[in-house]
Amino acid sequence: MEILHTPAALRAWRRSDPGSAGFVPTMGYLHEGHLTLARRSLAENARTAVSIFVNPTQFGPNEDFTRYPRDEERDLRLLREAGVHAVYFPTPATMYPEGYQTYVTVDGVSRGLEGDARPGHFRGVATVVLKLFNACEPTRAYFGRKDAQQLRVLRRMTIDLDLPIEIVPCDIVREADGLAMSSRNVYLTPEQRAAAPVIYRALRAARDRWSAGERDASALRELVAARIQAEPLAAIDYISLADDDTLEEIEGRAVRPALLSLVVKFGATRLLDNIELD
Ligand code: AMP
Repeated sequence: MEILHTPAALRAWRRSDPGSAGFVPTMGYLHEGHLTLARRSLAENARTAVSIFVNPTQFGPNEDFTRYPRDEERDLRLLREAGVHAVYFPTPATMYPEGYQTYVTVDGVSRGLEGDARPGHFRGVATVVLKLFNACEPTRAYFGRKDAQQLRVLRRMTIDLDLPIEIVPCDIVREADGLAMSSRNVYLTPEQRAAAPVIYRALRAARDRWSAGERDASALRELVAARIQAEPLAAIDYISLADDDTLEEIEGRAVRPALLSLVVKFGATRLLDNIELD
């Protein structure tokens, strides 16, 4: 497994073999969700590169950039064991040298949800992913459905900027009790961790109601809210039922596939999850 630190090194790796390349961008502190993306890429491409970069430009000033969990040694071991061919480990100074001033803004689909809760977040995400794509020139890039809005922002960017890259969405990987895997789950106290599966139970209850024919957006949002509010350690940040494609919030009845997404806070930790209703 090659460990690369600069865009030039990643580009040289890519150009050393004309076969297909899969790419999995991550912020490290890897879990089974990341590894599932990497394994899918390995199965579908001649070679796979994984990047590990905690990207400062996608964190707000009061967010967890400095305390975001990191464990390079363990990450490298997991990726080596998985059979990944290259790991790209840039530093913030490499990605954003002094004088840096170029950013990518994706309009419409960056608004609402995480875009409202975290101003500037998707500008940072789109910018770093375009930079990573430019250095890696992948055939396919793999992203989790857990970050549903991010996936839509990056799909839009790829179409709008004519990038010759296939964006491959991958299903959410969950713990046995339903909690979506996330590097941030490590922030939870044992009590919060024990309570957190309420999120997926609430989403599933709404999906059951949807399957039984419920289409009233307020009723579905309220059902989820009531379930979450029954858990004293949980605080709702937002609950959204939005058009699955545009992410515009649905008022009245849903007539097309919808994305039910939410952020629930346990203490200072924001847990993001969603379920697609179609
Ligand atoms: P992160 O390191 O959190 O930036 O995530 C890197 C990639 O892994 C993103 O495409 C995420 O959507 C994806 N990912 C994170 N958690 C999960 C999960 N539980 N299931 C599937 N994909 C995930």
